[in-house]
Amino acid sequence: MQKNARSIRRGGIPRKAMKIPDFSSIQSESIQSEQNEIDEPPSPPLSLNSFSDPVQSGELLPVRPVKRPPSRILRKQFIFRASPAEWNDWQWQLRNRVQSFDTLSTILTLSQEETDAVKTNGEALPLAITPYYASLLDKTNPMHPLRRAVVPVRAELCRSFGESEDPLGEDADSPVPGLVHRYPDRVLFLVTDFCSTYCRYCTRSRMVGRSSAMHGGASNWEKALGYIEANTSIRDVLLSGGDPLTLNDDSLEWLLSRLCRISHLEFVRIGTKAPVVLPQRITPRLARLLKRYHPLWINIHFMHPEEVTPETSTACTRLADAGIPLGSQTVLLKGINDDVDTMKELYHRLLKIRVRPYYLYQCDPIAGSGHFRTPVEKGLEIIKGLRGHTSGLAVPNYVIDAPGGGGKIPLLPEYFLGRYGDNILLKNYEELIFRYPDTSLKRRFEE
Ligand code: SF4
Repeated sequence: MQKNARSIRRGGIPRKAMKIPDFSSIQSESIQSEQNEIDEPPSPPLSLNSFSDPVQSGELLPVRPVKRPPSRILRKQFIFRASPAEWNDWQWQLRNRVQSFDTLSTILTLSQEETDAVKTNGEALPLAITPYYASLLDKTNPMHPLRRAVVPVRAELCRSFGESEDPLGEDADSPVPGLVHRYPDRVLFLVTDFCSTYCRYCTRSRMVGRSSAMHGGASNWEKALGYIEANTSIRDVLLSGGDPLTLNDDSLEWLLSRLCRISHLEFVRIGTKAPVVLPQRITPRLARLLKRYHPLWINIHFMHPEEVTPETSTACTRLADAGIPLGSQTVLLKGINDDVDTMKELYHRLLKIRVRPYYLYQCDPIAGSGHFRTPVEKGLEIIKGLRGHTSGLAVPNYVIDAPGGGGKIPLLPEYFLGRYGDNILLKNYEELIFRYPDTSLKRRFEE
């Protein structure tokens, strides 16, 4: 344990405690420009799949491959008429997020469902989409997968059976504000309630984007750090939120340096969607900063193969080149990614940009998620369609985060059929049955 603590410290932690950052500068308005760090996006366009037809109400359309230009080209057609330097500046992206009905209806031809939801959003999850991610949305098709994930519809205002604001019971396992301590050796540290783009199926929709429930801030961070320091059984901290990579570099460095001085911590993880919705955030400077705090792991929230663009690829390459192992977490969503071909395409694209598929989550029963949730059989069908049919690296763990705080429970199709004498019976991906001589019980008896 001490050895690990020493190795985490070797990563370049400042000798003296850094000055606590100005938390008012965490979000877009006052973040200093990093224009000199901005790279042009790479040139080769990707051919991406897209739903391209208008929709008959409530019906899903077949996927048709269409050529989609990279956002660099769409930028010129976009209402903001941004210069390349502006477009590639993550702070410009944050300042110009799509947040109103007027802006959204200029970019997209909104359906009645969408119009009603955006106009009467009320207490629901706020609307925010970065210009970059908005440039990936289909202008006319309300059933376009990426569009469905970020544009509200009326259905999210309806609560179905079993849904709740906090389905995972995180608030009940929170010893101090912004910290969830469920498993003995690790904690979830919710460092901000801010995201650059709000997913309509967000598990933490009860808190993200709401200033009244802001989890960032010096006093909450200090309480959380104090708790971690005092609990020596904690060896792993997951920074999440909100999106930790929407913090500015100074805040992030302050936080990581404080964590890395805690001798019983072995490593830190970050959960983020920034490489997907705000790839401009992954600047060379940020990659250099993160590299100083190894061992550091990053899990990225990917949802659909169309999210793997040249810009996202550059962002992930930058992080991987900084020595950070990258994983993906994907939520299973009805009509968006709930078929084997879409998932296989996503996972194949991720492996090409050095992101390992890690978790496939059954959608949590948050309030207003009925239109996103699939039967569990759908998830099992997808795993069955992947295992044995593609590289094992491309097969994530399919899990349900048990409502009420039960933690993640893995689900597998039926491969283990039972015991037959000294053998166990197994079914492979081709549905063929095999025996495995499991003599351990017999040996134990004979001994
Ligand atoms: S990025 Fe994560 S925390 Fe932010 S809205 Fe999406 S699911 Fe929620």
